[in-house]
Amino acid sequence: MEKLLSTNRRIEIVKENYKIISERIAEAAVKSGRNPEDVRFMAVTKTVEPVLINTAIEQGITLIGENRVQEFLGKEPDLHLEGVEKHLIGHLQKNKVRQIVGKVDMIESVDSVEIAKEISKRSEMQGITTDVLIEVNIGEEASKFGFAQETLEESLAEIALLPAVRVRGMMCIPPICETKEQNRQFFSQMNKLYIDFSSKIFNNINMNVLSMGMSADYYEAILEGSNLVRVGSALFGERIYR
Ligand SMILES: *Cc1c(COP(=O)(O)O)cnc(C)c1O
Repeated sequence: MEKLLSTNRRIEIVKENYKIISERIAEAAVKSGRNPEDVRFMAVTKTVEPVLINTAIEQGITLIGENRVQEFLGKEPDLHLEGVEKHLIGHLQKNKVRQIVGKVDMIESVDSVEIAKEISKRSEMQGITTDVLIEVNIGEEASKFGFAQETLEESLAEIALLPAVRVRGMMCIPPICETKEQNRQFFSQMNKLYIDFSSKIFNNINMNVLSMGMSADYYEAILEGSNLVRVGSALFGERIYR
């Protein structure tokens, strides 16, 4: 359906969606005892054309997330990214690390010690430190990336020793749930882990980002403590994979 809409119409839809989502984020933030500006609204831009991404930025988006290194690097020249933070949110292959380090402000999808080591190594070579989030496979799903809860402590201790990555928090993609209640349980469990690990003393680790919640469940995620929601289709419309 989206394909049949004119670009102008799609631009209008992104503007409307941006407003609606911003208001819901603000409402959920207040409901959870925080200020609207305490929760960041990331526009997830995979498969989205630059014209629509730029529209979202004009509306006030200051954070974008891309899944694939190649897609991001290909689109970047067409984006109006002044004042906009860029995060990588998709699973990263070791051989792509070299291309993305230094190009994004944060890598949210650190899902193994090995990938963290590679990010540190490539960052060191560039003389920079890369901010990362630890991805947790909160639903223990075989199909998903991320650390299992029981390996978190040991893995974090190892990552904390790396010289050129800085762990800023955690992210998760919970299982698809039948009810909002089930969804909230995963988010709540994640928030507990986040609080638990934030208070543990690890050198190099100073967590203040909890990235959880997408188009279908960002409201519930905020109620359970998320301070960064990653919204794609609710903002840009259904994705068309080419
Ligand atoms: C695609 C994607 C999103 C956004 O998904 P929507 O349901 O379209 O909002 C968020 N986070 C990650 C890691 C994604 O890959």
